[in-house]
Amino acid sequence: MTSDRWLHDPDLGQVVVAEDVLHKRVAELGDELTADYEDRPPLLVGVLKGAFVFMSDLARAIALPVEVDVMAVASYGSATTTSGVVRIVKDLDSDLTDRHVLVVEDIVDSGLTLSYLRRSLLARRPASLEVCALLVKEGRQRAKLDLKYVGFHIPPDFVVGYGLDVAERYRNVPDIRVYQGPVPVD
Ligand code: 5GP
Repeated sequence: MTSDRWLHDPDLGQVVVAEDVLHKRVAELGDELTADYEDRPPLLVGVLKGAFVFMSDLARAIALPVEVDVMAVASYGSATTTSGVVRIVKDLDSDLTDRHVLVVEDIVDSGLTLSYLRRSLLARRPASLEVCALLVKEGRQRAKLDLKYVGFHIPPDFVVGYGLDVAERYRNVPDIRVYQGPVPVD
């Protein structure tokens, strides 16, 4: 039994999505994706770094021969808000032409990162492009986003855990929690 002493951190607040609830929902999404992509196994495109835990669990919940690739984006802005100007820091290795692409995102806040990504990936002429986002913050999106698969709608607090960080910390927290510590300076 591992110790959970490190989780008694004053900067970690209320649990927003508990570990068992996360796992149950990821399994449901996996079943849904298995049914929807039965005859056309998708290429999962994980957006690093935040999606690495979700993508690892989701890939194993899909009972199809999926392929996996990753890309990393950086947005110009402060540590806790996006400016909407996004830069691809690490591009995909795969050619997307005629592929069934499923973008795996950790969290959608303003939606600016995702709308940039969608435009950029659609330009590569995939056969289809859908998004699976683990978390969507309620009432924060400025434009309408076409999100086919969503894990949870959550209140607009800044959260960490299950891949999500503050200054690279807390990614390995096993559930999703409100971050209530100081906002790091970029
Ligand atoms: P958007 O472009 O939708 O405003 O922001 C999306 C990106 O901002 C996410 O992929 C994530 O990197 C970061 N982000 C947005 N909200 C949160 C949050 O509550 N916690 C953490 N750790 N990152 C967030």
